Amino acid sequence: MRKFALAGNPNSGKTTLFNALTGSTAHVGNWPGVTVDKREGVYKRLPEQVAIVDLPGIYSLSPYTPEEVIARNYILDEKPDCVINIVDATNLERNLYLTTQLLEMDVPVAVALNMTDVVQKNGDKLDAKALEKQLGVPVVEISALKGTGIKELMERAYKASSQGRKGSTVLASSPLGHVIGDVTIALAGQKVPNPLFHAVKLVEGDELEVKAHPVEMETVAAFQKQSAGSLAGQDFEALAADARYKYITANFAGAYTRAKKKGELTRSDKADRILTHRIWGIPIFLVILFAMFHLTFGTDFLYLNTIVGWFNGGEGFAFDVATGNDVLDSFTAVFFCADGISTPGAILFNLMDFITSWIGTGIAAGMEAIDAAAWAQGLVNEGIWGGVGGVLSFVPQILTLFLLLSILEDSGYMARVAFILDRAFRKFGLSGRAFIPMIMGFGCSVPAAINTRTLADDKERAMTNRVIPFFTCGAKAPILAAVCGAIAAEYTGVSPDLLVFALYVFGMAMAIIMVAIMRQTTMRGEVAPFIMELPAYHAPQFRNLMVHMWDKLKHYIKKAFTIILASSIVIWFLQNFSWQWQMVSIEESILHDVGSFLTWLCTPMGFGLQLEAGYGWVFAVAAVVGLIAKENVIAAFYIIAVGIGFADVGQSEDGIAEVVYLMGETGITWQGLIAYTVFNMLTVPCFAAAATVKAETPKGKFRYTVAFWMLTSYVTATVVYLVLTWWWTAIIVAAVAAAFIAYVVLRNKGVIGRKVGSENLF
Ligand code: GDP
Ligand code: MG
Repeated sequence: MRKFALAGNPNSGKTTLFNALTGSTAHVGNWPGVTVDKREGVYKRLPEQVAIVDLPGIYSLSPYTPEEVIARNYILDEKPDCVINIVDATNLERNLYLTTQLLEMDVPVAVALNMTDVVQKNGDKLDAKALEKQLGVPVVEISALKGTGIKELMERAYKASSQGRKGSTVLASSPLGHVIGDVTIALAGQKVPNPLFHAVKLVEGDELEVKAHPVEMETVAAFQKQSAGSLAGQDFEALAADARYKYITANFAGAYTRAKKKGELTRSDKADRILTHRIWGIPIFLVILFAMFHLTFGTDFLYLNTIVGWFNGGEGFAFDVATGNDVLDSFTAVFFCADGISTPGAILFNLMDFITSWIGTGIAAGMEAIDAAAWAQGLVNEGIWGGVGGVLSFVPQILTLFLLLSILEDSGYMARVAFILDRAFRKFGLSGRAFIPMIMGFGCSVPAAINTRTLADDKERAMTNRVIPFFTCGAKAPILAAVCGAIAAEYTGVSPDLLVFALYVFGMAMAIIMVAIMRQTTMRGEVAPFIMELPAYHAPQFRNLMVHMWDKLKHYIKKAFTIILASSIVIWFLQNFSWQWQMVSIEESILHDVGSFLTWLCTPMGFGLQLEAGYGWVFAVAAVVGLIAKENVIAAFYIIAVGIGFADVGQSEDGIAEVVYLMGETGITWQGLIAYTVFNMLTVPCFAAAATVKAETPKGKFRYTVAFWMLTSYVTATVVYLVLTWWWTAIIVAAVAAAFIAYVVLRNKGVIGRKVGSENLF
């Protein structure tokens, strides 16, 4: 079977083409680095089946980032029969830079000019024929998104793969042409494969090559020494890059003609003038984010009820539609509550909660009917369905949130967010490139941590990995939704969406603050430059959105019925049995003992000894089981709530009733609840995320990361609790912060203490 590799710049459409070719559903993202490892599939519409490999996106073949190494080694070692080079036609010159390097290898190449739909929409002209003549390899216009030109591309690539190809370089006519020629002959004499490619890289001073071919390097060094005039003392790498760009401008600039004159803006550019505005960019982002949380968690759709209330002397709509029929009433409660009309996310949540509690009632009745033993009834009703059902209630909300996030990502907006944040926070030591995995963390920390492989700088990777969990993931969303819902329902008059939004933003702010602190203390260094293509905005593809949501749903359901189910059963046993393995009441259970032991530790954060002694331990226990999977925090609340007799109090009215009831029993304050949420957001993430971060962290340094999480969460939750409860403690906190900043500044200037070296302090 022949093998074709897809190579191209990040965001040029490789994965979209890969999916179109192989019928796969790999994640397409408007991000660089979404495809970090290579991926394989099969194309079946040629006389012979062809294996297709999606390589990570790269800007060049000089290995600066791990992705570039993967792509380069793949082509050199695995020798694909053809490299399909995807070129974003709307950024032709930038993309051809990589093409000129690919052509230096002895491998058949076919160029796919992608995004021709955008070219057409802009009314621009693209001359593929001229490009083909100049490059000497097939050039085919395609749109990976619309599926045009793909058949022709594959036919021509197939033909090219039958013919073989010798490498050629655009540097031949440059001042470096001579020495490249000499080294190529020397390497070819030793039967080194791809002699031209290695020769060029050697002359460019590429570290890997210099190590591999020390003898030939002497030829280059000698050339550099003796060459007079313009070449003396020049950096050959820069020289080569410059020569490539000059060649591209001279020979290919004519292949693309823009319909709009310079300075005239496309629709996408116009949108960017507003959305990436220097001052308004961040506020607009926050508003969009808030709209997202409102639609997902809000209980007063568009604040209609509140607004009506303003004009109506505090009276909103009258939603008193109780009919006395339980089923009917709980059904109407899906669509409105005392707060107002439910938002789409809240409707779905209520509906799901309605369904899960209905199933729960059914299961309980069934257990009753078959006369199951009391413990078995408890295990099934409370342990199994209490936990799993509670967690499943949040599926619709998570999917809603995820749908909205996917829309933002697929349309191209999230890539702009990285750009906006880069501009605002670069001076504090954060780069836009590092924001990409962080924002991905809104979905799940695991792929986000993997994405950090694309960061070239080790310290930046380590810092990014540490703060990724601060971007609240889908599994932590239920904690926020439930706790914020409980606060809104029980304690203060705020709306739950606003509170959820505030906590998300708080997490982001913590990430930024912590990176800024690390940059000034243990991880000093230059911020890596940030270049990224911003592809034109386009309407999100329905198929992409469905694929993202389906992935998420599968993952979540699987987790609910494996990890969470298992944990729930364990929690139930620990809650119902004593150390002597006797079935006992909750106050004598193992869970109670373990929790009580931890309670004193939680006191500074507001959910420790100050709570009702009977149930103060609940929070500690929930946080601990949350280390297995964050949904477990909620599962634990549900199981314990049922265990302490919520079921006797009555059926659920609005989804979080059990949790609200439990909170009431523990006597926790709303400040303590917020501190609790903050603690869970910032502490050690779930096992899966922690293991991934460990794998992406240099050997032996992971324990510092764990310490970082523990310390940050503990201190921050304590401060949050103190300041919210006794505002004047803010003065003390501010004073300590000021002293710390002064200390760091003075120390960095060398005024006090030893100047800390910028290396090794992870
Ligand atoms: P990769 O980084 O090279 O794998 O690029 P992706 O396949 O993830 O695509 C990046 C973005 O470009 C996504 O938002 C795609 O929907 C979009 N895209 C890809 N191909 C085309 C195309 O032919 N036309 C348009 N308009 N957009 C495309
Ligand atoms: Mg990709």
